[in-house]
Amino acid sequence: MKPEDDHESCKEADNDVEKQEFFMKQALLMGEKALEVGETPVGCVLVLDGKIIGSGMNDTNRSMNGTRHAEFLAIAEALQTYPKSVFAQVDLYVTVEPCVMCASLLRQYNIRQVYFGCANDRFGGNGSVLSLHSDPGIDRPYPATGGLFPNEAIMLLRRFYVQENTNAPNPRQKSNRELKMEF
Ligand SMILES: [Zn+2]
Repeated sequence: MKPEDDHESCKEADNDVEKQEFFMKQALLMGEKALEVGETPVGCVLVLDGKIIGSGMNDTNRSMNGTRHAEFLAIAEALQTYPKSVFAQVDLYVTVEPCVMCASLLRQYNIRQVYFGCANDRFGGNGSVLSLHSDPGIDRPYPATGGLFPNEAIMLLRRFYVQENTNAPNPRQKSNRELKMEF
């Protein structure tokens, strides 16, 4: 292989990483927005051909509806413009590993690929608790890749729980202040 070929493939790989980082940063911005309004800071974007076609952030507290996770909102937004079949060409960037509910939804919608920031040790459906992206089933499995800006995603969650504890009438003891991802 000629050196130029090496160089070319490296460049392509770099561009891919740059693209992934760009969209994860957009997802993190959605998480920031959630934090600002007192929602568990999880954000996501759906990307088709390098373009965001839907974005979402957690909305369970305001709506008092536990199913209004970032992924559901982003999919609903995309469906206003595109048919359900579009998701076979769509990648999801989400700051926290999708929960088992969302992981199942994403499979039913035939998502092309999922990139997430930090793992969701208590509710994760992309490998942490269940592997709903890859288990044998009737819907096509999808690849899920974690570890894209995980620290930034965790920091958002930490800021949320510190804020929540500060606002609580009876601040919780330190032993309860571990990082939780209940949403
Ligand atoms: Zn979820």
